[in-house]
Amino acid sequence: MWQWWTAIPLWRRVMAGLALGLITGLVLGPDAAALKPLGDLFLRAIKLLVAPLILVSIVSGITAMDHPGDLGRIGAKAVGLYMVTTVFAICIGLTVAVLIAPGDGLTLDTTTVPAEAPAAPRGIDVLTGLVPDNPFAALAEGNVLQIIVFAVLLGMALVVSGEAGRPLRALIDSGTAVMITLTAFIMEIAPFGVFALIAWVAGTQGPDIVLPLLKLVATVYGACLLHVALTYGGLVTVLARLNPLKFLGGITDAIAVGFSTASSSGTLPVTLRCTEENIGVSNPVASFVLPLGATVNMDGTALYQGVAAVFIAQAFGVDLAMGDYLTIIATATLAAVGSAGVPGAGLIMLTTVLTSVGLPLEGVAVIAGVDRLLDMGRTAVNITGDVSVTTVIAVSEDALDHEVFNASPEA
Ligand code: ASP
Repeated sequence: MWQWWTAIPLWRRVMAGLALGLITGLVLGPDAAALKPLGDLFLRAIKLLVAPLILVSIVSGITAMDHPGDLGRIGAKAVGLYMVTTVFAICIGLTVAVLIAPGDGLTLDTTTVPAEAPAAPRGIDVLTGLVPDNPFAALAEGNVLQIIVFAVLLGMALVVSGEAGRPLRALIDSGTAVMITLTAFIMEIAPFGVFALIAWVAGTQGPDIVLPLLKLVATVYGACLLHVALTYGGLVTVLARLNPLKFLGGITDAIAVGFSTASSSGTLPVTLRCTEENIGVSNPVASFVLPLGATVNMDGTALYQGVAAVFIAQAFGVDLAMGDYLTIIATATLAAVGSAGVPGAGLIMLTTVLTSVGLPLEGVAVIAGVDRLLDMGRTAVNITGDVSVTTVIAVSEDALDHEVFNASPEA
């Protein structure tokens, strides 16, 4: 039985978990909430990998690089591409929302308690905050950006230390190998975790909740699909010259786990695994560019914030001028960068976008009812965006193994 089970490729087992979870949730209804602890268990298990895995894999990635100085160029490419794709995502979201007009004809309940907009962080604080004053605290809190900075510094110091750094280098290389094995262990429970999380969402977010906002849900998902096809399809096909269906097939596990957990940071270990083992991106590039993306690149979140802002404007009868759209593009880009890769972060940051153009914050409470459903879609897009950019960079750096890529299944 065990052999039969493990002989099935993991992505098929995960997809089966997803499909069965959907059916189970629809059949059980709200009772499916009883399955949630199983999903939480899986989410906690993959999250436990994040901090140690990023640390050891970035350090061993850097020490394995022929020219660690290349990191600056790779980082600049990553930030540039991440920003461009995010702006594309919001523009697609805004265009689709204006065309479909999901908020037209909706009667909103404005008696709900208005949400409070969190204060936007100051740029200078964000920059100084990148450097951890205590790397152990950064690891304990799971502060991914600070862990990246510490790992890069440690990796550079190890390279420069030469002979003296050899024992620590060997220890970290061994740590990376062990963390990869641990990821593989934990992924064995992915089909069950995905099953439980999807059953919980399908059972608790029934038609009563979703139907009144169906047009909004359809608009967000439609815009997400368009962004994946146009922007990522373009990046992978035109810039990286790769088969986009094989690309999607290679990252199916990451998309399914991201979709069901609604956490791109939590999914990071799975994303790293798929990107290296199925797409064929070298460890130095993947281990550096992906964690950066999981923290700052949230295309799905930005797109969703664009759609949500237009939806709320339409529902409250507020006319948006051209200047307002430009403000939304700017603030949604920043809000997406500032959103953590955890469930619901994009909804909280939506308040800063609404405040920037004077839209009523009550709109947040209306969207909150279906937010989990929207969160699953935008998280899947966030992850696909991270891997697309990483793949393009890997091709440009001659750091992609085409044999590994060609062995991936087509989506
Ligand atoms: N849940 C999303 C993510 O983890 C962030 C968001 O809420 O938009 O990528």
